[in-house]
Amino acid sequence: MPGVSRSSEQRLALIVETQRELAAAGDDLEAVMALVAARSQEITGADGAMVNLVEGDVLHTRAVTGVAAGAFDARRPLSGSVARFAIRSGQPLLIEETIGDRRIDQELRAKVGDRSLICVPLFHGPQVVGTINVVSRSATERLNEEDRRTLEVLSAVLSAAVSHVAEVEARRAQAAAIARFRTLFDGASIGILRLDCDGVAVEVNPAVEQLLRTEAGRLVGRPFAQHVVAGDRAAVARGLDDLCRGAGGGFSMEARVRPATGDPVWVALRAVAEAQPRGPVFVVAMMENIDERKRAEAELLRQARVNEHQALHDPLTGLPNRVLFSERIAQALRQARREGTRLAVALMDLDRFKEVNDSLGHAAGDQLLCEVARRVREVMRASDTVARLGGDEFGLVVPELAGAQDALPVIARIREALERPIRVHSLPLAVEASIGIAIYPEHGDDAQTLIQRADVAMYDCKREGSSHAFYDCAGHEPDVGRLTLVAELRRALARGELVLHYQPKAALDSGEVRSVEALVRWQHPERGLVYPDSFIPVAQETGLIGPLTLYVVEAALRQGRAWRDQGLELAISVNLSARNLLDCGFPAQVAALLARWGMQARSLELEVTESAMLANPKRAKRVLTELSRLGVRLAIDDFGTGYSSLAYLRQLPIDEIKIDRSFVLGMAQQGDDAVIVRSTVDLGRNLGLDVVAEGVETLDSWNRLRELGCGVAQGYFLSRPVPADELARWLQTRPGVMPPSARSAVDAA
Ligand code: C2E
Ligand code: CA
Ligand code: CA
Repeated sequence: MPGVSRSSEQRLALIVETQRELAAAGDDLEAVMALVAARSQEITGADGAMVNLVEGDVLHTRAVTGVAAGAFDARRPLSGSVARFAIRSGQPLLIEETIGDRRIDQELRAKVGDRSLICVPLFHGPQVVGTINVVSRSATERLNEEDRRTLEVLSAVLSAAVSHVAEVEARRAQAAAIARFRTLFDGASIGILRLDCDGVAVEVNPAVEQLLRTEAGRLVGRPFAQHVVAGDRAAVARGLDDLCRGAGGGFSMEARVRPATGDPVWVALRAVAEAQPRGPVFVVAMMENIDERKRAEAELLRQARVNEHQALHDPLTGLPNRVLFSERIAQALRQARREGTRLAVALMDLDRFKEVNDSLGHAAGDQLLCEVARRVREVMRASDTVARLGGDEFGLVVPELAGAQDALPVIARIREALERPIRVHSLPLAVEASIGIAIYPEHGDDAQTLIQRADVAMYDCKREGSSHAFYDCAGHEPDVGRLTLVAELRRALARGELVLHYQPKAALDSGEVRSVEALVRWQHPERGLVYPDSFIPVAQETGLIGPLTLYVVEAALRQGRAWRDQGLELAISVNLSARNLLDCGFPAQVAALLARWGMQARSLELEVTESAMLANPKRAKRVLTELSRLGVRLAIDDFGTGYSSLAYLRQLPIDEIKIDRSFVLGMAQQGDDAVIVRSTVDLGRNLGLDVVAEGVETLDSWNRLRELGCGVAQGYFLSRPVPADELARWLQTRPGVMPPSARSAVDAA
């Protein structure tokens, strides 16, 4: 009712009524404020009213009526308002006429116009928290002192109501916050504890109960540390203590706690001090179960240790393996260089180990190896290394020698240790070993060279039948060119630079080609195609021939397989050297390669020379017998150039002899050669062997050999050794099975 002037009694009655209404509005702050605004306008008969609350620097209008509605933004800076004067002074403010009043600035005046206004502060305790404002048109219904006093009374009523509601609201917010915290605390999967500064638990959440398998009742009021395993307890206590003394913002550690039942559990602990004005009183600790992770870590660690041991040791004897052997040599070399001492690297190979394996079985072989390992280890110093390099091969490193001769007593001790027969399956087995020795610095100054030279020495002593041998510098001239060749050849093998060419062998009667000889070439990145005569001898001397031969056998089998898949059945022969015949493991490797390429043993032929067999006839016989048992065909290469006895040859499981090309080439001119060829053909016939003539270069020798009853020919007359695809093309374009020139010769006959 704007413009109505009321009596004091009326005003008082309205205030009392307002008070009642306020009580009825209860805790609803919005309703309370709306009511106050409406009543303020009504009682003073003003045009408009508003209730503002102070929020920091902002005046927030919470309720508004009459002309005041929409005149101001709900939130506006306190600094521009008239209310600030009432707020600052804590006194009601009456401005009877806004025009000309300095407290009304330009902007405000534009909004308010020509009015009169009252602004009374609202209190919460001693603090001003807001204002009630009323406005009227100053020309007609100017507000006066009485209105101001009325509002002052009303503001007291309102202040009480606002304070009450604000308190209720604050309590409500607090309760909500506590409820939210409770949900977190109770629902957390991480254990949360509140400890006092003596480390006594004040509060724990259910996750802690679960982790420690103990009810809260038995945890609260007791020192938390008693649940930490003894080994970690001091560290935990120290961490908590530091926090309570205000040192550091928090601590975290991993520790083991002991649940009421079951094994200790790894937990990650993180604790912070509760901020308090007078220093920390409580510590909040979080505890996460990391047992599984810890277990996984421990397992990984254990596995890593096992792997490392396995990677460096031979599983059968527990001795260092080849990798560790090389490492030990390198280590000993460093020491020898530092101290100016010598060092012996020796390779030891058991002489008849294969027999044991074959006749008594692998278990017996293993037993023998273990006993040898044990005995050798026993007679060596702790600073020496005894390694098992594979099969029946052992490696020794003997450091700190004054001279090469100092190695001899060590060798003697080993021989003596092996003299006593080893009982396997109650059989006393005599063990003999060949030991090859290389000395630093005389024979080399890196691990690789020393091992390689000890290997050469070992083969020397096998050939000579002696029990040990030092590397013989004179016998194996160290030659820089040769050494680089060795290194290059090793790389060539790794990079697959060796390629095979194939030379056909044809039946002399029909011309049919059933087999080819694989001949290795080195596709050198700079030197072009290098022929075997320039690198096979070096490979033979250095032991590289072992891997080289396997490389060739595999390449040949791969090619044989490819041809077979194309419908071309061709047996392939591969050349062996003396070393391969000393290697008892070779037959098994050949068998594995046959299996890998799904090839029949019959499709592989191995060529060996007489001289290769003579290096160690007994061992050669054993290896050849083994190969023959697999079903692999065996040929004697370059036959006639060596001096093997017929008696010896008879004992060997040979399928074929290849007459050396020198006789075949000389057959035309020299009577002797023709005789040798003829008698070889006869010998082969008598022994039931195939006879192949090498070096058939002319139609003439082709015909002569056929007349002599020789079975197969190989040579330039048919074809030079050529790459595989070229050979396949050659076979296809050959008119029939006979070489063209031979066909005409046959036809003419
Ligand atoms: P080899 O086993 O006697 O091989 C036959 C050699 O005689 C080949 O020389 C071949 O090209 C050549 N030849 C073939 N037909 C004729 C002919 O009608 N007239 C003449 N004058 N020579 C002919 P290549 O390929 O240079 O091989 C030389 C030697 O290298 C081979 O002699 C063999 O002992 C060795 N060799 C080749 N490949 C290998 C291999 O993979 N491993 C081993 N250990 N030795 C190999
Ligand atoms: Ca050959
Ligand atoms: Ca030959």
